[in-house]
Amino acid sequence: MPELRRGATNHRWVIVAPERGRRPSDFEQKGTELAHQEPANCVFCAGHENETPPEVYRSPSSDGQSWDVRVVPNKFAALQHYDELGRESVLGIYDQMNGVGAHEVVIESPDHCSQIGDMTQQQALPIVEAYIHRLKALMENPWFRYVLLFKNHGKEAGASLLHPHSQIIATPIVPQEVRESLNIAKDYYERKERCLFCDIMLAELKSGERIVEDADGFVTWAPYDSRFPFELVIYPKQHSHDFTTMDADQRAGLASVLIRTIKRLQTLLGDIPYNFVLKTTPNPIVRPGKPGYWTTLAYDYHWRIAVMPRLTRVAGFEWGTGFYINPMPPESSAKYLREVEFPSSH
Ligand SMILES: [Zn+2]
Ligand SMILES: [Zn+2]
Repeated sequence: MPELRRGATNHRWVIVAPERGRRPSDFEQKGTELAHQEPANCVFCAGHENETPPEVYRSPSSDGQSWDVRVVPNKFAALQHYDELGRESVLGIYDQMNGVGAHEVVIESPDHCSQIGDMTQQQALPIVEAYIHRLKALMENPWFRYVLLFKNHGKEAGASLLHPHSQIIATPIVPQEVRESLNIAKDYYERKERCLFCDIMLAELKSGERIVEDADGFVTWAPYDSRFPFELVIYPKQHSHDFTTMDADQRAGLASVLIRTIKRLQTLLGDIPYNFVLKTTPNPIVRPGKPGYWTTLAYDYHWRIAVMPRLTRVAGFEWGTGFYINPMPPESSAKYLREVEFPSSH
């Protein structure tokens, strides 16, 4: 029977509609249409370094001759540098400001076909290090109120290039989605003096039915109010509001968890399109007129990564109502993903 579900961190309803008991094979896909892109014409491949805008970060390879990860400004940036915010009113009713921000591309490997799910921990760790380095650097700019890290894999997930990469966009506002979750977390903390996200994680661990893994300092599960089949979240087990404060063990742990999470999905479903998105603290720099705005953030917010396989289409009903029909109960998603067997060499 279909169920209406609402999670604790937002006001969104989700319809879980298992109908005739969907199986992973219903979602399996072979390859992506980006597969025709060749390394010889790829600006992200080793040997093409001078075809990108000048890099803002490089992780040198162990022999010092090449690189493991590069970060470059996006040639087709969604937001960019301006000298002023340029806030103004339009028609007395709309608000406008310049597209102030930054848009960077994290080139995850010099190798065109190296996907994170097939990497070793040594290969994936420099990606995590690059994320932390760039987020820290962008957070130093007081104009950037939020820094979003995300990955689009596959054409259906919004990727236009096959070469493994993720993106970072700094915005001059805190996005509504983030603001809503911050407010709910703050409200919960004021009532209970506990972190909402820690409480959710403890409840999920206690139940166990949606847990995919609990390892290396992280817990991965299918959210109770999953909008999409095989949707997952990855939480650091130790409370922290800020992704950039991870120590060496946590960075290594996250590298392993990301590898295994993608590997599980790809073992079960093939080379599916997916997005992952980091949810972390907004820029804590105090702004005029907002004293005390972020004072409880370190206690009430909890950073995490959301992984969304793009197996179903968002259509009129979802756009019109803001809630989703999910044909795969998260309890089933978790069970299938938990049972994936793969070499435990990572
Ligand atoms: Zn390439
Ligand atoms: Zn917490």
